[in-house]
Amino acid sequence: MNIDDAEIGKFEALAHRWWDPNGDFRALHDINPLRLGYVDDRAPLKGARVVDVGCGGGILAEAMAMAGAEVTGIDMAGKPLAVARLHALETGAELEYLAATPEDLAGERPGAFETVTCMEMLEHVPDYASSIAACAELAAPGGQLFFSTISRTPKAYLLAVLGAEYVLNILPRGTHDYARLIRPSELAGAVRRAGLQVKDVSGMAYNPFSHRARLTRDTDVNYLLHAVRP
Ligand code: SAH
Repeated sequence: MNIDDAEIGKFEALAHRWWDPNGDFRALHDINPLRLGYVDDRAPLKGARVVDVGCGGGILAEAMAMAGAEVTGIDMAGKPLAVARLHALETGAELEYLAATPEDLAGERPGAFETVTCMEMLEHVPDYASSIAACAELAAPGGQLFFSTISRTPKAYLLAVLGAEYVLNILPRGTHDYARLIRPSELAGAVRRAGLQVKDVSGMAYNPFSHRARLTRDTDVNYLLHAVRP
């Protein structure tokens, strides 16, 4: 199974902090409007069948449901999923959450989704190429896929690991292991090997003081990749 128990454990331990807008996962809340807009601009969410892979506490999954998509969120950490379900009860968002890896769900529902999102997860699995191949199987022909992660550069280490986790406390400490970060060329390679076409790679510049994020051409730290299944 393509799961790293130690990584899942980190997310289990912090599940109760997921929806605190000033808490451990602040960075995910801050970048959410930008990534939601990126997806919606390229693959309109209203009425679309969407799977959010590695959804955690549901920050993106719930926002996509609120935008009118029919969303399935999957994750292998039980506590974040429980938090996600409770939060949806509170807000009235209608979506489905399942405990599954993308490989599991691809076996059960191949080609079932018009849009596949997989944000900030690939750097936490033992074999990200396997996760990407499973995401490709989940997508219907002509489906749109969106990945985001952190590049493996000294700048990313300084800003996204040391800065965000240890100085600014906007991500839980120890979340990111430098060796597992993924460069855009590596991600694009795995995406192509999964039979997908890369449409766009954009950097996400995040200002931790204004808490605003914007798209940029600089993909040295956080970035998004849009692909399509032919
Ligand atoms: N995508 C969410 C959460 C990112 S945190 C967001 O960006 O807001 C990464 C999540 O990936 C965690 O919730 C973790 O439990 C999940 N995860 C890690 N490995 C996984 C796997 N093999 N299958 C499914 N989920 C996984």
